[in-house]
Amino acid sequence: MVLYESTRGGKEGIPSAEAIKRGISPNGGLYVPQRIKELTQKDISDLVNMSYAQRAVFILKQYLDDYTDDELVECVNNAYNTRKFSTADIAPVRPVNENLCLLELWHGPTCAFKDMALQILPHFLVKAMEKTGEECEIVILVATSGDTGKAALEGFADVKGTRIMVFYPENGVSEVQKYQMITQTGKNVKVFGVNGNFDDTQSGVKRIFTDKKLIEEMAKRNLKFSSANSINWGRLVPQIVYYFSAYADLVKINRIKAGDKVNFVVPTGNFGNILAGFYAMRMGLPVNKLICASNDNNVLTDFIRTGNYDKRRKFIRTISPSMDILISSNLERLLYELTDHDDKRVSDWMNRLNEEGHYEVGQNLLKDLHKYFWAGWSSQEETLKTIECVYKENNYVLDTHTAVAVDVYDKYVITTGDLTPSVIVSTASPFKFNGSVCKALFGEKSIEGKSEFELLELLSKETDMPIPAGLRDLDKKSIIHNTVCEKYDMKTVVIQNLF
Ligand SMILES: *Cc1c(COP(=O)(O)O)cnc(C)c1O
Repeated sequence: MVLYESTRGGKEGIPSAEAIKRGISPNGGLYVPQRIKELTQKDISDLVNMSYAQRAVFILKQYLDDYTDDELVECVNNAYNTRKFSTADIAPVRPVNENLCLLELWHGPTCAFKDMALQILPHFLVKAMEKTGEECEIVILVATSGDTGKAALEGFADVKGTRIMVFYPENGVSEVQKYQMITQTGKNVKVFGVNGNFDDTQSGVKRIFTDKKLIEEMAKRNLKFSSANSINWGRLVPQIVYYFSAYADLVKINRIKAGDKVNFVVPTGNFGNILAGFYAMRMGLPVNKLICASNDNNVLTDFIRTGNYDKRRKFIRTISPSMDILISSNLERLLYELTDHDDKRVSDWMNRLNEEGHYEVGQNLLKDLHKYFWAGWSSQEETLKTIECVYKENNYVLDTHTAVAVDVYDKYVITTGDLTPSVIVSTASPFKFNGSVCKALFGEKSIEGKSEFELLELLSKETDMPIPAGLRDLDKKSIIHNTVCEKYDMKTVVIQNLF
């Protein structure tokens, strides 16, 4: 069986169901598999003629082997179907021109790639509770700056044995993001605005999570907290699937031959998406380089180039907000893998990051890192320019996050001359970030004085693309959640709604 251990030590392994239920290890580390199973070229070739759901079951089985095949099939079928996704391909590969190929991960209900994991995580969790004999109801608490909250709501709405409460900064999310959340239906969902910024909201949730008295009170009522953010292995493992799926599709459409290498370019924030690519590579997927694309918050570009991780810099609010991150939590898992599971060194680096704001990994590890990764970043001006150019030349509309990746890919080709076939991982629908996209395509004037709902219409009319179902008529839906609380009242709100 594949067992899971913490990146911060304590080698006793636990089955995947237990790791998924816990979310994070009690010692603060992240759960990783003790061994990674290598697939054969035949295994990979066999994926070519499978559906996305079949590919998913095959890959998930390599990691969640305490789940039966039937259980995995049920989880996959509940998540990846045409009631939830707008295309039967689930994660289609779109060749845009001879060199440019996109892997579209935003056909789920909330129009961003978080759906790929958050549609299936609740099903893993429910099964994990059954398998571990858990009798409590699970309460998922989420602090969100926009995308994760809605994706978690969609994933957990009406899932038996769970409740979900989402807190967002009342004035810190876009209109579209806010309406997506406050119109959410489902018997087990609650959404609250907080008078404060994202940090206030996140700190509030963290305090509630670790409130011993509250946890005791909850236990008396058969309730238990868990987390749906990307430190949970259950969110990482579904993301490995689409790297294999994209490769199989490239073989299927004759862009490559089985066994050929490809590059993946990934717009990166918390390092969860690209880390799944690393696991795919370790499993034997023929990948030449994983290209890590950042925005102005380019802490990862500097790290991958120099081996020096330094978060002591100004946080910049950009037009690709889901990548505005200075502490990429999943990097911890990569360091653990690259040091052959050296929990002492990893703990030391993480403590240093926490206490001094920086750490350095040394030349040997850096050399190893460069076998897998290349990194670059795109300024906001370059990102807008990229959206404009790709639309003019290829009639394809990029969102602001994906445009960062396309720009960084151009820089990669110019710098290295590497012409290996490459896939840009596309993480959001352009409709989700319509203000910046309209500005890039039609100029500053086009957006003046218009609401985000009017901009959806504008983008749709000008590009002849339908507004995705999840964003259509948002402003006409009834508002279900209208409570806004003070940041010091969050715990009271939780108690009032749970007990
Ligand atoms: C979350 C997100 C990212 C960043 O992904 P990580 O796994 O955090 O690196 C990129 N683009 C979009 C649209 C996202 O929502």
